[in-house]
Amino acid sequence: MASAPAHWDLVVVGAGPAGAATALGALRADPGLRVALLDRADFPRDKACGDGVAPHVLDLLAEVGVTGVVDDRIPVGRLRLGRDGLVAERRMARPAWVVPRRVLDARLVDAAVAAGARFLRHRVRDLRQYTDAVVLDGEISAAVVVGADGAHSAVRRALGRPRGPMALALRGYAPVAPGRRGTQVIEFGTRHQPSYAWSFDRGDGLANVGYGEVLHRGRPAPTRGRLLERLDALLPGATGAGRHWVGHHLPLSTARWRPPADRVLLVGDAAGLVNPLTGEGIYYAVATGIAAGRAVAAARREGRPEQAGERYARATRRMLLPHLRHTALAARLARSRPVVEAGLRASAADQRVFDGLVELGLARGRLTPTVVFGLGRALVAPARPAGRIREPA
Ligand SMILES: Cc1cc2nc3c(=O)[nH]c(=O)nc-3n(C[C@H](O)[C@H](O)[C@H](O)COP(=O)(O)OP(=O)(O)OC[C@H]3O[C@@H](n4cnc5c(N)ncnc54)[C@H](O)[C@@H]3O)c2cc1C
Repeated sequence: MASAPAHWDLVVVGAGPAGAATALGALRADPGLRVALLDRADFPRDKACGDGVAPHVLDLLAEVGVTGVVDDRIPVGRLRLGRDGLVAERRMARPAWVVPRRVLDARLVDAAVAAGARFLRHRVRDLRQYTDAVVLDGEISAAVVVGADGAHSAVRRALGRPRGPMALALRGYAPVAPGRRGTQVIEFGTRHQPSYAWSFDRGDGLANVGYGEVLHRGRPAPTRGRLLERLDALLPGATGAGRHWVGHHLPLSTARWRPPADRVLLVGDAAGLVNPLTGEGIYYAVATGIAAGRAVAAARREGRPEQAGERYARATRRMLLPHLRHTALAARLARSRPVVEAGLRASAADQRVFDGLVELGLARGRLTPTVVFGLGRALVAPARPAGRIREPA
C-alpha cells in the first residue's frame, strides 16, 4: 500500500453515512482529490439506530454513483401510526427499508473507498486551524476538514459551537410480533412528551424495536431501565425477547440551523441534523455529506479551499432551511395531544395528508396546504371515539 500523503485535500472525520457521503460527493465531482476518511472504529461496526432508511436516501446515493445498497433487503410498504388506541395505517407512497447499520454503513464505506477515499482508523482529539491548513492531532494536515463524527462531535466541540436540543433513544432487536410484520410501527407516548416507541420489521424475522424521548434541560435523562419500561408500556412484549440493546443521543435540528462557513465543515449529526418529529437523521447525513463533498471539490477547482464552507453553507441552507423551519413548527405543535390525534385522524381520512406527513418526517417535505387543511379540518371536527382507523388492505 502506498504511504499516506502528509497533506490531504480533504479529511473527513467519521465514516458513518454523513462521512462516507462526503467522500463520495467530493470524489464524484473530482476523482483526483486526495481524500482521507477517518473513524475511531473499524467497519463493520454497530450504531444505535432504528435502521429505517427512507427511499430518498437511495435517490441521493444514486446521484453519486452508489446503487444496489439495499438489493438484498426486503422493502417495508406500510406505516402504522398510533396513539393511545387511535391508529392510522396506510401504504407509503414509496416503500422504506430497514437495514442494520452494521450492514449499511460498511457498504457506504466500501463505496467511498472504491471511489478513491483512503480509510484510516484514527480517533480525532484535537483540531487546529492555520491560515492555509487544518491540522488534526498534530499529525494529519488537510486543506479542508469535514466533521462527520456524530452526535458528540469532537470537531464541533473544537469549533466551540454549543450543542442544541437532544433526544435520547434505545434500540434492540427482537423477533417480529405477528401483528407487526411488513410494517413500520410508531406508537406515540402519552406521558413523556414528545416520545415514541417503534417496531420496524427488518424482513428477516427480526424487528428493530426501540423507544426515544426528547430531553429537557434541568431534568435528569431517563435511565436505560426507564427507557425499556416505556418501550414495553407502548408496545407490549417488545422488550421480552429483545437483544443487543444500545442507546445514543440524537441532536435535533432547529429552525435556526447555521453551519460553519470556513475550512472546517459539519455534516449529519455533527451539524445537529436529526428530524425533531421522527428522529430520522440518515437522510440529512447523506444530503449534507454529498453537499459538503461537492463544495470542497468546487472550492478546490477554483484554488480557494478556504471558500468550501461558504459554498456549503449557501447550498445547504437553500436546500434545507424551509424544511427545517416547517419541521420545527410541526414538532412544537406535536407536543399537543389534540394536534397529534388530529394528525392521525387526518392521515387515516386522506392519503395525501398521510403522504405529506411522511415527506416531512423522512426527507425534506414541508407543511403543505393539503396537510395544514387536513389537520385543521380534523381539529375542528367532533372527536371520534378512540379506535382503529385503517385504510382497506
Ligand atoms: C436509537 C436511535 C434510532 C434512530 N433511528 C433512526 C432511523 O430509523 N432512521 C434514521 O434515518 N435515523 C435514525 N436515527 C438517527 C441516525 O442514527 C443518525 O442521524 C445518523 O447515524 C447520523 O449519521 P452520521 O454519519 O452523521 O453519524 P454517525 O452515524 O453517528 O457516525 C459518526 C461516526 O463518527 C465516528 N467518530 C465519532 N467520534 C470520532 C472521533 N473523535 N474520531 C474519529 N471518528 C469518530 C463514529 O465511530 C461513527 O462511525 C436514530 C438514532 C438513534 C440514536
